[in-house]
Amino acid sequence: MEKKELLGLFPEELSDELKQYALPAFRSRQVFEWLHRGARFEEMTNLSRQLRAQLEERYADQPVHLLEKRVSQLDGTQKMLYALRDGNIVEGVLMHYHHGYTLCLSTQVGCRMGCAFCASTLNGCVRNLTAAEMLSQVHCASRQISDGRVSNIVLMGSGEPLDNYDEVTRFLRLVSHEKGLNIGLRHISLSTCGLVPQMKRFAEEGLPVTLSLSLHAPNDLIRRQLMPVANAFRMEDVLDACRYYIEKTGRRVIFEYALVDQLNSRPEHAAELAQRLRGMQCHVNVIPLNSVEEKTLRGADEQAIQRFMQELENRHISVTRRREMGDDIDGACGQLRRHYLEDRSQEGEA
Ligand code: SAH
Repeated sequence: MEKKELLGLFPEELSDELKQYALPAFRSRQVFEWLHRGARFEEMTNLSRQLRAQLEERYADQPVHLLEKRVSQLDGTQKMLYALRDGNIVEGVLMHYHHGYTLCLSTQVGCRMGCAFCASTLNGCVRNLTAAEMLSQVHCASRQISDGRVSNIVLMGSGEPLDNYDEVTRFLRLVSHEKGLNIGLRHISLSTCGLVPQMKRFAEEGLPVTLSLSLHAPNDLIRRQLMPVANAFRMEDVLDACRYYIEKTGRRVIFEYALVDQLNSRPEHAAELAQRLRGMQCHVNVIPLNSVEEKTLRGADEQAIQRFMQELENRHISVTRRREMGDDIDGACGQLRRHYLEDRSQEGEA
């Protein structure tokens, strides 16, 4: 029988689940706290040996294991491959900034959104991750840190978080739980390709995380060339959903914009973008495109990047450039997992 994951349960659900063992209430609270410190059953030393063995038999504790880690020689960025219990693999990146550690985590195995520049989507979406698997990625990454803790999380690994709505919102509530890791929602960013109905629902969820919107274009024509999701939702409706998010949460929205050679990075594109974003409480994060072997798109050159940013600034749009980290270790989304899977299938053939 498939073992149930305890890590994804809210305290009330956990105490319901453990009722069969007739534990006093404080015991199930202890189990919750242990689980959210990343402990395995065998490490829960203030529980009886018998109870630990019973839990071990029926339940899974940490559903994610570190499979492989690469550390950048350039900036110390750590890129991790995690193994899930069913043999699937996802990746994550741990970045060290002056203010602490930021973890980029995955919400699905693969992705079905099909963006033209992204490696995570090449084989579609295999399955959603559970809240427990997302939490367990944080625990796994935390064990790699000796001088601090994970203080910021970005949901920017593989997957479209709003395509896995229920487990992602459960994760957000658990990871910010005061008896759990207690990571403030304001220190968490959720990045979406722009699923309008889910964005509106999320605005009403009472989870004030930073919303990042992958825009990548100043209009629908260009956006459709890069992101199939732009055929389902018009940019104006996506921007309206962003305005609604700002209104409901009081937080500004971050627009992500990967600069592709010629396609979306010319000065007139910047001017059009500025026009579309006028009056919005927002910020643009320009991303130099990470080229993916299987894709033919080329990134804009340095001069075009500078020019694009200048054009936005001239029009009073706040803009920064995403620092490129871990360039020497397959830093971009989905690339490490992809290379790992390729190596494994080649070994299989040999
Ligand atoms: N599905 C979500 C989050 C995952 S990706 C989303 O679409 O936002 C996080 C960010 O990285 C997104 O802005 C995505 O568009 C961008 N991205 C993906 N592949 C990239 C690449 N090769 N170069 C630059 N940015 C990339």
